[in-house]
Amino acid sequence: MRTVSHWINGDTVEAEAGSRFAEITNPATGEVTAQVALASRETVDSAIASAAAAFPAWRDTSLAKRTSILFAFRELLNQRKGELAEIITSEHGKVLSDALGEVSRGQEVVEFACGIAHLLKGGYTENASTKVDVHSVRQPLGVSAIISPFNFPAMVPMWFFPVAIAAGNAVVLKPSEKDPSAANWMAELWREAGLPEGVFTVVHGDKEAVDALLESPQVDSVSFVGSTPIAQYVYEKGTATGKRVQALGGAKNHMLVLPDADLDLAADAAVNAGYGAAGERCMAISAVVAVESIADELVAKIAERTRTLRIGDGAKDSDMGPLVTAAHRDKVAGYIDAGVEMGATLVLDGREVSDTADPNGFFLNPTLFDHVRPEMSIYTDEIFGPVLSVVRVESYDDGIELINANPYGNGTAIFTNDGGAARRFENEIQVGMVGVNVPIPVPMAYYSFGGWKNSLFGDTHAHGTEGVHFFTRGKVVTTRWLDPSHGGINLGFPTNG
Ligand code: NAD
Repeated sequence: MRTVSHWINGDTVEAEAGSRFAEITNPATGEVTAQVALASRETVDSAIASAAAAFPAWRDTSLAKRTSILFAFRELLNQRKGELAEIITSEHGKVLSDALGEVSRGQEVVEFACGIAHLLKGGYTENASTKVDVHSVRQPLGVSAIISPFNFPAMVPMWFFPVAIAAGNAVVLKPSEKDPSAANWMAELWREAGLPEGVFTVVHGDKEAVDALLESPQVDSVSFVGSTPIAQYVYEKGTATGKRVQALGGAKNHMLVLPDADLDLAADAAVNAGYGAAGERCMAISAVVAVESIADELVAKIAERTRTLRIGDGAKDSDMGPLVTAAHRDKVAGYIDAGVEMGATLVLDGREVSDTADPNGFFLNPTLFDHVRPEMSIYTDEIFGPVLSVVRVESYDDGIELINANPYGNGTAIFTNDGGAARRFENEIQVGMVGVNVPIPVPMAYYSFGGWKNSLFGDTHAHGTEGVHFFTRGKVVTTRWLDPSHGGINLGFPTNG
C-alpha cells in the first residue's frame, strides 16, 4: 500500500521503525487507498531542527531572490493545479470544480506574497531629533508552524505559508491526517521552484505531533485552523510557551433574508452555500434566517432547487460529493435524527441517499429543516455537513439579535434590496466577514480572513497585511552619524531637540 510520509530537508523521509499509521480513504467509494505515517515527538523535533537550521540563510536571502522563487512556485501551481485538485477530490471527496476553486483561492495568496518586497517596506524619518534619524524594519520570526484541517487541504495551508516564507521564515506544516497528500505535492512544487531545503517541511500526525510543535522552544509562531475546542487548546498551550498564535476555529454561519430580497437569488445562494462541499466549509451557510412573511416561499424555492442536485463521486461530474469519513457521515446523520426528535420540520431528508452515490461511499443527501428553534442541537452545534436549517423570525431586529447571540462569528450574509438595511447590518453585526447579497464572503488575499468570538483565538487574521504582521516583528532603529554632539554626562531620560 502507498505510504504518505514526512517531507524533511527537501525530500520524503521514510517513517521511522515502529511508526503509527492512519488509513486514507476515498470517501466516494469507501476504499482504503493509502496510509499516512503519524510522527512521533522525535520525528517532529528533527523536522523542527532542520527548519531552524535553514532559517538563518533564508532570512538573509535577498528579497529579489525570495520573490523569484515565489513567482516560480506560482507559475508551477498555475500550470499544474489540476493535479492538486484531483488529489484533493480523491481524499476529501469534494467535487473537482470545487477542489480547483480551492486551489485558485490559495493561489491568490501566493500572488499576494509575490509583492512581499512592497509589503515589508519600513518607514524612515530624517532629523527626528537634531541630526538623528529613525527607521523601522520588519523581520521574520524564525520557525512558523501551520496546523491545518481536513476541509481545505491546499487552500488553508496557503493562507499562511506563502506569506510566512516570503517574509523569510521557515515553515513546518502539519496537515490533517485525513487528506495529507496535498501537502507533499505542494512540498515537491516548492523544491521544483528552487526553495532551499528545510524552508518548507511537512510532518504528518495527530495530537502527538501537534503537542510536539506547541512545546518546542524552536517554534516561534503557530497558525492553526480547525474546530473550536482544538483551536482554544492550541491557543492556550502555544501562548503559554511564549509563541505567537493565531487559531481559527469553527463556525455557524447565518444568512438573513429580508422580505424585499430577490428570493430567487437568495434561494440559489442558500443551496450553493449550504450544500457546496457537502457543507464541510467553515464559511458554509448552515442557518437561513427568514423573515416570516417570505419564509414559506423561500423554503419552497430552496427545496425545489435542492431536489435537482446530483449526488455522487466528486470526480464524476456530480454537484455534491460525500462526507469525509464514515464516522463523520454517521455523526451528521445523528443530527438529522435529533432535529426530527426535537420537532423541526424535515422538508428534505438526507438520510435517503440517491442511487447515483456508491453505497460504500460516505454519502448523505442534502437535508433541509424548517421551523428550527435556537435551542435545538441542529441550530446550536456546528454540524459540518449538508444540513440547512431555516429559522423564522418576525423582523430584521429579531434576526440580528439571533445572529449576535451566537457564540460563533466567522461569516454571515444579508439578502436585501434595501441599502439602508444592509448598511445597518454591516455596522451592527458581530461577525468577522460579512456578505451583502453574497453568501460566502471569503475576503480576497490582500484583505485578511478571520472570524470573531469562538471562531478565532488570537488577534490576527490570516493573509493580507495582518498576515504580514503576524509573520514578522517590528524593529525601530535610531541613528546618529554626522557631527555627533557630545552632550557630556546626563542621566536624564533622552529627549528630542
Ligand atoms: P480538527 O479540529 O479536528 O483538526 C484540525 C487539526 O488539528 C488537524 O491537523 C488535526 O490533526 C489536529 N487535531 C485534531 N485533534 C487534536 C487534538 N486533540 N489535539 C491537537 N491537535 C488535534 O478540525 P477538522 O475536523 O480537521 O476541520 C473542521 C473544522 O475546522 C470545523 O470546525 C471548521 O469550521 C474548522 N475550520 C475553520 C476555518 C476558519 O477559517 N475559521 C477554516 C476551515 C475549517
